Amino acid sequence: MELNERNQLSVSQRRLTKRIIKLTAEAVTDFGMIQDGDKVLVAMSGGKDSFVLLEALKTLQARAPIDFSLVAVNIHQHIPQFPVETLRTYLEDCGVPYHIEDQDTYSIIQRLIPDGQNVCSLCSRLRRGILYRVADELGCTKIALGHHMDDIVSTFLLNVFYGGRLKGMPPILRSDDGRHVVIRPLAYVREYETEKMAKIRNYPLIGKGLCGAGENKKRTELKALIRQWDRECPGRVYNIFMSMKRVSPSHLMDSGIYDFETFTRRSVDARQTSDEVQKASAP
Ligand code: SF4
Repeated sequence: MELNERNQLSVSQRRLTKRIIKLTAEAVTDFGMIQDGDKVLVAMSGGKDSFVLLEALKTLQARAPIDFSLVAVNIHQHIPQFPVETLRTYLEDCGVPYHIEDQDTYSIIQRLIPDGQNVCSLCSRLRRGILYRVADELGCTKIALGHHMDDIVSTFLLNVFYGGRLKGMPPILRSDDGRHVVIRPLAYVREYETEKMAKIRNYPLIGKGLCGAGENKKRTELKALIRQWDRECPGRVYNIFMSMKRVSPSHLMDSGIYDFETFTRRSVDARQTSDEVQKASAP
């Protein structure tokens, strides 16, 4: 079913659909995420956000004044009970070229990480490496991930609360080796909107928790806090998100980006994080 398929949707459902497309288009434009000729790898985990991402990009592709192509990619990690054929059927039907990369990372993780220890960090690194390699093999110029505003805000808060640093999850990011560009076209979309969209579209969602890792406790707490703010202080999450777009280095304390001796902003080339500055000046 196409996102712009109007007649089966109620007015409020059509409004939500339109809003998600509009917000996705705005984020793509604001951060120059997709250019003419790009081939975008769309990471499909089987979760709600990845389905929304694929449909939104597919709709934008049909409407955009530029030419770009899409390829949906799922990594088949051999997680027990993962219904890879359900996802394959969906991708087959939706008409976007797709690739399922068979990589048994589940066994690697089971072998390397002792029982009871956190597996997500290794799993994420393995998946990221596989996505980069598959992007190269498929000739993709961008890698689109389904992170939304709530992911960006909770990552920002996690870094502030537990890491002691102002650092978020950017809508567009070049990999450390400069060879890959990761984009997050749903950056302006709220999680409750992807949840509603998933219900409306009746996506064949693949449930969380099949890997047995459980939820990250700190992230779960922050998501609960975000939901509480939404109920009690509407607008707060949006304001936190907007604060990442309106930074005043002279009113913070990072001498890597603001020179407090000359009261000038450092040039981009000279910019270092405070950690790097401290490291460089350490005895
Ligand atoms: S929740 Fe499961 S699939 Fe997701 S990163 Fe953790 S181990 Fe990997």
